[in-house]
Amino acid sequence: MNAAAESSKRAFQSWRKTSIITRQQTMFNLQHLIKRDLKKLAENITIEQGKTLPDAEGDVSRGLQVVEHACSVTTLQMGETMPNISKDMDTYSIRLPLGVTAGICPFNFPAMVPLWMFPLALVTGNTMILKPSEQDPGAAMKLVELAKEAGIPDGCVNVIHGQHEAVNFICDHPDIRAISFVGGDQAGRHIYERGSKNGKRVQSNMGAKNHGVVLPDASKEATLNQLTAAAFGAAGQRCMALTTAVFVGESKKWLPDLVEKVKKLKVDAGWKPNTDIGPLISNQSKQRVLRLIESAKKEGAKVLLDGSNVKVPGFENGNFVGPTIIADAQPNMTCYKEEIFGPVLVALSVDTLDEAIDLINKNPYGNGTALFTTNGVAARRFTDLIDVGQVGINVPIPVPLPMFSFTGSRGSFLGDANFYGKAGVNFYTQLKTVTQLWRSEDASPEAKPQMAFPQLK
Ligand code: NAD
Repeated sequence: MNAAAESSKRAFQSWRKTSIITRQQTMFNLQHLIKRDLKKLAENITIEQGKTLPDAEGDVSRGLQVVEHACSVTTLQMGETMPNISKDMDTYSIRLPLGVTAGICPFNFPAMVPLWMFPLALVTGNTMILKPSEQDPGAAMKLVELAKEAGIPDGCVNVIHGQHEAVNFICDHPDIRAISFVGGDQAGRHIYERGSKNGKRVQSNMGAKNHGVVLPDASKEATLNQLTAAAFGAAGQRCMALTTAVFVGESKKWLPDLVEKVKKLKVDAGWKPNTDIGPLISNQSKQRVLRLIESAKKEGAKVLLDGSNVKVPGFENGNFVGPTIIADAQPNMTCYKEEIFGPVLVALSVDTLDEAIDLINKNPYGNGTALFTTNGVAARRFTDLIDVGQVGINVPIPVPLPMFSFTGSRGSFLGDANFYGKAGVNFYTQLKTVTQLWRSEDASPEAKPQMAFPQLK
């Protein structure tokens, strides 16, 4: 780990001096190489992480979009200029890299999350130490190999492996200036506190409980399909999974139809065609999900569909949990309060839209939420009053494209600058302002003209 820090520090000295168009070119190359190897990367994810192949391709593609965004660095990293702030005096600002940065990743998006981090850190002139999840580091390793092939010099991105010790090394090392973290609450809070205490910039994306509010005027089939995909896709192991349905008024009568739809989902190995739900990442994860389903039964909720005992032929010891729907949940129940991170949809019922808004605003998390409706006035009211960072109207997983930022809020985020978008560039750069005075009285004779069309390198 010390060798990685030393190498990153050394590489920064030359990398920071490369021209912005050289760094931009490496991102164009990286974009091409990721596209070339997309299928291979996805296969690696499916084998190592368990998600289905089409979902793994989505994992890579959504990360690829951040690389494409990084290609806009030539405008994103521009400073500002104010000429003539006084006679013959101008001020301009420049955005400079910080130095060595670090990224700590979760298991659930083995390609997308590393790609949220190192491309933007590098293209803005930093170097990065990447710590993938110890549970599935394969995609991150392949991506940094592609970065090398794309022309990123040695030392600019280093990978270290491990868990607590590696994380604490990053939080404490004096040469690391900033930490990007994505993962659960416990690690996220720890890293934010320890890193900040050591004077580092930290952005920490953490856990979630995302509510989907269903109004009775919503388009029924489309809404039930969207709920199904957003709750059970990736076996519910997405921080933006729509894990909590809030049925308003009469819409709760749609629950039996939802159960029928969800029953048809196929649980099997991720690499098999037609699989809808793959295994969970570990036996520990499976045990947590089973415990939370049990808690719902004990605490008086109604389990309409129970996937606790699912058996997948050929994989009897696999970490599978079948799709589960818990109805009549209450806000004080454990299954509502804790992040389940499995294929489990918790359903609550309320009488009005305002009650739904109140419920969501009282929940400590603020990652994402969605409203399903055909009523624009209701949609506008929801958007206005809801205190959640990413809002979807008839969009169940409202993660914006990277020209915007990932804007989870409240309990789901610690820090000041979000991931990617303009905020991501701000996170990895520091401002310097220059105020200069060139007295017109001192003007020197003009230099000779250079006649050839200038070529930049
Ligand atoms: P995790 O917190 O267990 O692990 C994340 C990283 O932190 C890993 O690299 C791990 O090695 C390290 N780590 C874990 N426990 C630690 C500890 N006690 N001290 C120091 N380091 C520790 O998360 P996970 O299980 O890999 O991922 C799932 C979680 O990530 C869920 O809570 C999910 O909501 C969250 N997540 C959030 C976002 C987001 O953008 N908000 C995106 C993806 C995942």
